[in-house]
Order: sequence, then C-alpha cells, then structure tokens
Amino acid sequence: MTVAQRLAQVRARIDGAARRAGRDPEAVHVLAVTKKQPVELVREAIACGARDLGESYVQELVARHRELGDSPDLCWHFVGHLQTNKAKDVARIARVVHSVDSARLAHELGRRASADAGRLDVFLQVNVGGEAQKSGCAPAQAKEVLAAIELEPSLRVRGLMTVPPHTDDPEGARPFFRALRELRDALGGSQRLPDLSMGMSHDLEVAVEEGATWLRIGTAIFGERP
Ligand SMILES: *Cc1c(COP(=O)(O)O)cnc(C)c1O
Repeated sequence: MTVAQRLAQVRARIDGAARRAGRDPEAVHVLAVTKKQPVELVREAIACGARDLGESYVQELVARHRELGDSPDLCWHFVGHLQTNKAKDVARIARVVHSVDSARLAHELGRRASADAGRLDVFLQVNVGGEAQKSGCAPAQAKEVLAAIELEPSLRVRGLMTVPPHTDDPEGARPFFRALRELRDALGGSQRLPDLSMGMSHDLEVAVEEGATWLRIGTAIFGERP
C-alpha cells in the first residue's frame, strides 16, 4: 500500500469514528509520526499534503529537520520524552511539544522559546495509567504543572496529552482516554485546554470517540517501522 492510500484509510477511520460519536471530523487533526521511517516515505506524505510531522527523539528531530530543509510549511511536533538539557534544540525546531511534564521543563522550554523561535505550543503530558516507566506527570500534579506552564509568556498551552498502557485490544485504552478528558474538564475544560492529544495507529477510533483532537499516527501512515 502507498502512503497516499494509507493516509486515505486513516482519514476514513477518523471520519467513521467521528460520525459515530456525533463529532465533526474536521476537529480531529493528524500528526504524522515519522520516527524511524525512511525519508522517501516522509516525502511521500508531504506530497500528499501532510504538514504536521512528529518525532520522538531529539537527535532524530534535528536530523529530519536538516534533511527536509527548514520549510516554513512544515510544522514539527515533538512527542517523546524530553530532558531539560535538550530543550534548546527542540525549542529551535518544533512548534509544538506534546510532552511537557514538569515545571522545570516548562521553565526551560519557555526560556529557550523566547530566546529562539517565538511562541511555542505545548501539551501537558499526563501519565494516566500510572506506569512507572512512562513519562508524564501524575494526574494529581497536573494542576501545578499546568500553572507553571501558564507562567511562561513564550509558551501557549494547547491541552493534555497521554500515552495509555499498551493493550492488544484498542478498547483497553478507553478508560485512560476518558480519564484524560475528565481531567481536562476538572482543570477548566476546553476553554483553558482546547486540545486532547491521544490516540495512535491501533486505537485511533477509541480516541476520537473519547474526544481526541490530535492523533499521533506512525505505522498506520508509513507501515511498520523498520
Ligand atoms: C511512536 C509514537 C506514536 C505513533 O505510534 P504508532 O503506533 O506507530 O501510530 C505516537 N505517540 C508517541 C508518543 C510515539 O512515540
């Protein structure tokens, strides 16, 4: 299957899920996660109109950005775990960071964003599954970290992000997506947090049904990572 066919398939899955949930499919955005994928496939996606691209390792973000040129058309998203000492590179390249999970990281990104690229959109990543090995702040800390992000004039909060515990059955993700949406509502609703970044290749329908506005999709667009 070509990238064009896969993109169409993803869009059809989103439209179906949105219709079932009574949501506007246009309110659901796709971020093409290019990690580990050959650059020819990334170029194919761009040729098909993909503009929002995501990477989850800093070195790979830097390399991709160099490889594809500094096109003002492309919008780079960073979705992986971010250490404060790498905040500078990410703030230089990415326009959206989905993985802010501490006040310290918010402060460092805020400092770097103002010095370099201008305003940076960020998501607060929450570890709703409480898994020890996963990034994201605990739900109980979300209020405090959110307040820290809002103190940074060069950052703009878009919403909440989560990566649920892996389950083979996509339905297994539903309680975690729902928990993220409920946390959003408890923290001030869509006025304060307009976006929910949740849902990947295998569970995107469930995420759309639970209110996702940004899906982070890799394999369903590019095929299995080599
Ligand atoms: C790799 C990755 C994705 C994409 O996963 P797929 O299952 O390939 O769609 C989404 N979000 C994050 C944080 C990732 O690291």
